[in-house]
Amino acid sequence: MIQSIGEISTELQQLINAELAWSYGVIPASVTAKTLTLYTSETTIVDNIKDDLEIIIGKRVEFEFVSNEIFRKSLGTIYRKSGQQKSNNASEFEGGKDDFLLHVIYEARELGSSDVHIEIYEGKARIRIRIDGHLVEKYKLESEDYPELINKIKIKSNLDITEKRLPQDGRLSFSDFDIRVSILPTLHGEKIVLRILSKDSTGVDLDKLGFETEEKRDYLEGVKRPNGIILISGPTGSGKTTTLYATLKILNDEKRNIMTVEDPIEYTLEGINQVQLKESIGLTFASALRSFLRQDPDIIMLGEIRDGETAQMAIRAALTGHLVLSTIHTNSAWGTISRLIDMGVPPFLLAGTINTSVAQRLIRILCNECKVIQKSNELELPKNISVTELPEHFIAVGCETCHYTGYNGRKAIYEVIHIDKILGEKIKLGELQIDEILKQRKIESLGQKALRLLRSGDTSLEEVYALITNG
Ligand SMILES: [Zn+2]
Repeated sequence: MIQSIGEISTELQQLINAELAWSYGVIPASVTAKTLTLYTSETTIVDNIKDDLEIIIGKRVEFEFVSNEIFRKSLGTIYRKSGQQKSNNASEFEGGKDDFLLHVIYEARELGSSDVHIEIYEGKARIRIRIDGHLVEKYKLESEDYPELINKIKIKSNLDITEKRLPQDGRLSFSDFDIRVSILPTLHGEKIVLRILSKDSTGVDLDKLGFETEEKRDYLEGVKRPNGIILISGPTGSGKTTTLYATLKILNDEKRNIMTVEDPIEYTLEGINQVQLKESIGLTFASALRSFLRQDPDIIMLGEIRDGETAQMAIRAALTGHLVLSTIHTNSAWGTISRLIDMGVPPFLLAGTINTSVAQRLIRILCNECKVIQKSNELELPKNISVTELPEHFIAVGCETCHYTGYNGRKAIYEVIHIDKILGEKIKLGELQIDEILKQRKIESLGQKALRLLRSGDTSLEEVYALITNG
């Protein structure tokens, strides 16, 4: 191990600027035409940052280890930058049994929650935990206790406690999961959102997700092709990433090179290369994809197709023999086709590359302990369903079992369109009205699926409307 870090030339400092140095916890040591050597602290897990840095710098990256103490000191002297002490290798969160913050975090995790909101408004402070996709108020706090809690989170996630006017982002690390911390100044004080990132994908299983038998067959038909594009659409929080990871698990074997670029990385999966998107330093979906292609992957997972540039590159990757998996914000599986055409993808290229288009949503399932049956009223039913068809339905009530939400768990529903020759031809010709074909193939829309769950007493009208209005 290196005992001290000397002066760093300006050339090296330009190569690794302060933001890179602080956010990755590295200091440049030396550089050659092909390789950049970096100092890092002895506790840094370099696997995670090696890929990112190689993409950003465009050279092979090697590491020299330094003790924590020397590293921190040198980083502070070389890159003097107050309030920027962010680090990817934040030390693991430790706290006593009576630690309220830890208690809240573990409670959220037990509830399978994706995020915790800590906020203050008009002298009142509260903590809400998202359960089955909806925020539930769990704790009220005295407003005097609020600043202490905020400071504690800032310290634990290496953020600047004196900064109260600008948004800040940090991270809390636990042994089996991570939390992304985002702080936003509001009118009444700082609001904190803790996003829980599951880390471990062990429990993720395609068979448990909610695909019906036919759908799964159609889906896998597209996935098992050596190249092409698989797209999953739906709003934020509809479980798209979980579906993609369940898919990658099937594809993950020694023979295949799998690369992902995501924001944030929600799961880890052994044997694949995962890169965290960082737009502030130029690591975008498009730039990562460009670099990936030089490393000849077999399978590429892009967190999201947001713009035309990424869409066109994804198509190009698929055309040149790669299997590309990604997500997109559209309302239906077929809606994805017109969205990509609107983004500038030529229909004939799309027709030749898209294997399968999937739409998905998570529907809340009524709590069996407290749901009650009620007579349907013509006025409250969706237009396409009459009282004769649905004389009664269940409504949510709320009890202790379901944290007074009326619901207990969620179920994924899918709409899967396998793009075969016939549909490919339609796309090529721009004939995008395919209702008849979908009907023939008995492909149900998400709305029809939700209605089915309403009829069987598994979900409520409220959930059906939530699905319809969210597209
Ligand atoms: Zn209940």
